[in-house]
Amino acid sequence: MGPRLGKRLLFWVPLFLLFLLALPLAAHAATQVEVTGLVVNLRAGPGTDYPVVGQVSRGTRLVVVGEARGWYNVALPDGRRAFIAGWLARPLEEAVPSRGITAREDKPVSSPAAPPNSVEVTGSVVNLRAGPGTDYPVVGQVSRGTRLVVVGEARGWYNVVLPDGRRAFIAGWLARPREEAISSRGGEERLIPSALAGKKIALDPGHGGSDPGAIGPTGYQEKGFTLAVARLLAAELRSRGAQVLLTRDRDVDVGLYARAAMANDWGADVFLSIHADASFNSSARGISTWYRREGATAEDRRLAQCLQEALVKELGLADRGLFTANFVVLRESSMPAALVEIGFISNSDEEALLRTPEFQARAAKALVDGLERYFSS
Ligand SMILES: [Zn+2]
Repeated sequence: MGPRLGKRLLFWVPLFLLFLLALPLAAHAATQVEVTGLVVNLRAGPGTDYPVVGQVSRGTRLVVVGEARGWYNVALPDGRRAFIAGWLARPLEEAVPSRGITAREDKPVSSPAAPPNSVEVTGSVVNLRAGPGTDYPVVGQVSRGTRLVVVGEARGWYNVVLPDGRRAFIAGWLARPREEAISSRGGEERLIPSALAGKKIALDPGHGGSDPGAIGPTGYQEKGFTLAVARLLAAELRSRGAQVLLTRDRDVDVGLYARAAMANDWGADVFLSIHADASFNSSARGISTWYRREGATAEDRRLAQCLQEALVKELGLADRGLFTANFVVLRESSMPAALVEIGFISNSDEEALLRTPEFQARAAKALVDGLERYFSS
């Protein structure tokens, strides 16, 4: 054995041993992952060129059955398989020690008398039903470890929100309150309740149906942008325990008076109308937030300010400031109301941004932050 070969072995042998040590750890770490992206696409294969087969929201746990090219192959609650990008999910074993301040703020907590804000499924595979009893039809299934937001309780069953926003019931003896799960780990965490828990938020995606709203230089339509942001925002708000009303959840016509009336009848705490701006001046750019001109309250203005600041901070576009207007949806709604204009679809740079799912998710995150700040002060 020459000196050069000896040196080489000195380098490679420990490296190989390290590799052997790391191998079972890595395999073990990936038995379950938790979704870290706000709303993440599930795909048919390990890459963004494969078709989208579903979506999951932050906090969802998925059982891992394999890995390929940096993507996890996961089993969905209904038994189907799909792939999720490795950089948008983290191995669950890491979730506990690495939980930081943001994760704490994500986890609502409630008084012992009230129903828990969320439960964790304890049965291996559990039916979700349309009502609180085994005589109601099965509407889906969840697997052990799945976390569900609770919106009510009836006859020993939890009424829960699914990641796609639908409601269902799960038997109380097959799920345990999340607070219990956390304190039994040693109670080292102090949980801060989300200011959004229990709040009723009316979201109004602008335009729709025969009304495309403004249309960008390459043809992107405002109605598509507003609906995409509203859907992402609704999922995120519900995951934090808020109740959400969408004035439209599809590409349909809804009158302006009907939008305000829906929020009024429902008894919303706030009304948020989502739009993108447009101008004949193709260089006009940036974000503005509007509130009612007649009879505006301090709360109207504070809501607008919280939303505007959060949007500018998160999206980094120009800050055009706050404005008042006599828009029907602002005038006719009977609670604090704001209308956000998130960038100019008539500006080719901003149109290109607006059409990306990444920008839409960041806009939704900004609006969550703005609403959370509004409700926490
Ligand atoms: Zn508009």
